[in-house]
Amino acid sequence: MATTLIDGKTLAASTRAALKDKVAQLAAKGARPGLAAVLVGNDPASRVYVRNKAKSCEETGLHSEVHELPADTSEKALLELVARLNRDPKIHGILVQLPLPKQINSDRVLAAISPAKDVDGFHAESLGALVQGLPGFVPCTPAGVMEMLAHAKVPLAGARAVIVGRSTIVGKPLALLLLQKDATVTICHSRTKDLAARTREADVLIAAVGKAKLITKDMVKPGACVIDVGINRLPDGKLAGDVDFDSVKEVAGSITPVPGGVGPMTIAMLIVNTVRSAERTLGKAAEQPAR
Ligand code: NDP
Repeated sequence: MATTLIDGKTLAASTRAALKDKVAQLAAKGARPGLAAVLVGNDPASRVYVRNKAKSCEETGLHSEVHELPADTSEKALLELVARLNRDPKIHGILVQLPLPKQINSDRVLAAISPAKDVDGFHAESLGALVQGLPGFVPCTPAGVMEMLAHAKVPLAGARAVIVGRSTIVGKPLALLLLQKDATVTICHSRTKDLAARTREADVLIAAVGKAKLITKDMVKPGACVIDVGINRLPDGKLAGDVDFDSVKEVAGSITPVPGGVGPMTIAMLIVNTVRSAERTLGKAAEQPAR
């Protein structure tokens, strides 16, 4: 079966290009969207992610700051930085790159980010809004997956969607977004019995596990759309997704590659959220009575 490649790199580039004019207009009104990324410690993967996010922001015309803190940073010091960024009018989005070192409680740090600047969508208020179907920041990876499905015109209403992985940043919010589009959603995890039987039921199969090539050809229904969120480093240094791309592409109707799939769309959605945040700030400023 000929599969269709869902090219996240190209879609992300066109998403960013479409935002450039909007960013320039906001800048002309004194509200250039600004993103502050906070990186604690020396995790090489986190460093690459933060660098890529900052580079994409700059290319799209955003103001971008990276705050690099040493691995032994205290929670108090990090919370003080977050509080300062919350007050900084140049900053419309704050992202604290996870994972954080052991001495820092990630939940407390994420909770300290102003929901108005929570462009990663990890704050309980943002996730609560998603559960209730209210406006708010949607986590970037699930939002990117939904954009890819929409762009590829994958039918969702009534479709059987199976997500492997139940994290708060990918699996669970994605399930809510798919429900909003009237898919029938199953979430699988490490305790799921007969995973292959569940995944074979999927019209849309999404892997967000963190185990290289876990999803093999025999686990995929012919013609299914397969979205691979996983990013895994192989012993030879190459990147691989959670899907065994070479075999699964023989049966899938459409499939995302790794790299060049969900990863670039995650960054594009971070920029979308930051631009929205700047627009809201400008809207609120316009509502203030003139002094
Ligand atoms: P987590 O480690 O938080 O969650 C992994 C999930 O996979 C858990 O729910 C776990 O189950 C489940 N799981 C583990 N092993 C199995 C198994 N053998 N069978 C079925 N389910 C299993 O990971 P994240 O959600 O943070 O990330 C998942 C992957 O996506 C990683 O590779 C990560 O690097 C990548 N990622 C990529 C992004 C991108 O921009 N492309 C962004 C974010 C993440 P249980 O809950 O029972 O432990």
